[in-house]
Amino acid sequence: MKSIDTLVNEQKTFFHSGNTRPIDFRREQLAHLREWIRTHEAHVMEALKKDLNKSTHEAYATEVGISLKEIRTAIRNVSHWSRPQRVPTSMIHFGAKSWIQPEPYGTALIIGPWNYPFQLIIAPLVAAITAGNCVVIKPSELAPHTSTLIRGMVEELFEPAFVTVIEGDVQTSTELLAQPFDTIFFTGSVPVGKIVMEAAAKNLTPITLELGGKSPVIVDRDANIPLAAKRIAWGKITNAGQTCIAPDYLLVHREVEKPLIQGIQAAIKENFGEHPLNHPDYPHIINRRHFDRLSLLLGKGEIIAGGAMNSELPAIEPTLVSGASWNDPIMEDEIFGPILPIIPFDDLDDVIEKIRSKPKPLALYYFTNSKKNEQKILQSLPFGGGCINDTLMHFASPYLPFGGVGPSGMGSYHGKSGFDAFSHHKSILKQTTRFDFPFRYHSSKVGLSVLRK
Ligand code: NAD
Repeated sequence: MKSIDTLVNEQKTFFHSGNTRPIDFRREQLAHLREWIRTHEAHVMEALKKDLNKSTHEAYATEVGISLKEIRTAIRNVSHWSRPQRVPTSMIHFGAKSWIQPEPYGTALIIGPWNYPFQLIIAPLVAAITAGNCVVIKPSELAPHTSTLIRGMVEELFEPAFVTVIEGDVQTSTELLAQPFDTIFFTGSVPVGKIVMEAAAKNLTPITLELGGKSPVIVDRDANIPLAAKRIAWGKITNAGQTCIAPDYLLVHREVEKPLIQGIQAAIKENFGEHPLNHPDYPHIINRRHFDRLSLLLGKGEIIAGGAMNSELPAIEPTLVSGASWNDPIMEDEIFGPILPIIPFDDLDDVIEKIRSKPKPLALYYFTNSKKNEQKILQSLPFGGGCINDTLMHFASPYLPFGGVGPSGMGSYHGKSGFDAFSHHKSILKQTTRFDFPFRYHSSKVGLSVLRK
């Protein structure tokens, strides 16, 4: 097997040969990728079933479908996105033209997590190819079936000097991060995001960090409660809560707490029956370490629904915890599992103040029918992105840049913003040689008065 240094050097040579620049080449690679995914859809589903017990419905909606949508958008727009953009030229540069020319960074490193192990590699890969880069992919070792599937797919479709997969754990990731990549795209936890940023700083490599955190869902008293309940339950039980943008905790106006909780319980039952652990399609917790971490979170507060666990699968029922306080361990770190602590509130301003005192979330969801309060939330709270009267869905739009802010991430992707994440935007001013004004020169007597105009 080739060393990592050799592989990265081969990619640099391939990139500098100019092979990845033609738009037809990029479109062709994207079309191959699309064809492979369509043909091997059943294999993708199988790997996701083995790694996380995802149903075909969930695997299509949250992994395959999103990947195909990203490819479709990229194929349609690559030519338009790559075109130099003419911009106005100031009078002081009379005779010149100016434009912004997107160009690929060069060699890109993509490191992925285990929770959506297919689409969280494919979507950035699509963006990197669309922008004209060579790519090294490091999938998560915690979803081994999907990791191996992605390696097989890439080996079948691309030459290693263009796209290659290096499987492995922290050690492999560390070795890769020491390489002089031209850009790094990392999806994962906040602590590892800091390690990635430190490694990138050594080479001053531009990075995109797609991280996590605690994303609140707020339900106000004027909201459509039956709909809110269904959409919150769906957002939390999808992938058993192992979703970076899952509603992490619920803040509900005290007047509507009871019907909302009843609605969430009913929605869970409707989706996964009376005993979700026996349902063949209820997603599993990725491993025992995460299962143990989650079980410890159930020590405080009152379990008002769910709570059953199976350490063999391993899996945990969708669980609602009431009476949680802001100081409980469950309110410290991202839960990343099917447990929803519920805190009632009386005044929206208190909620705003509390969320403001926490790290900026990746997502925020607000259920209301009041335009005024919607604006209040949007204008007073910083967060990566989110929904009014829904959960998760902002992620699924190729027209909305997806990313965090501050501790929940840096940069964004999906659609055009993915192309931008993997491109440098070169600013060019082309001056005429037909004439030359003397103002700029040190010898010019009139220079300053003209410059001041
Ligand atoms: P993680 O940070 O543990 O691992 C992510 C990747 O980094 C893996 O490929 C892993 O091998 C590698 N890695 C782990 N430790 C490392 C180290 N010390 N040095 C270098 N590389 C290392 O994250 P995870 O557990 O796979 O995923 C869960 C986290 O990811 C959650 O916090 C979740 O919110 C976040 N996430 C964010 C998004 C997003 O789009 N913002 C999407 C999915 C998951």
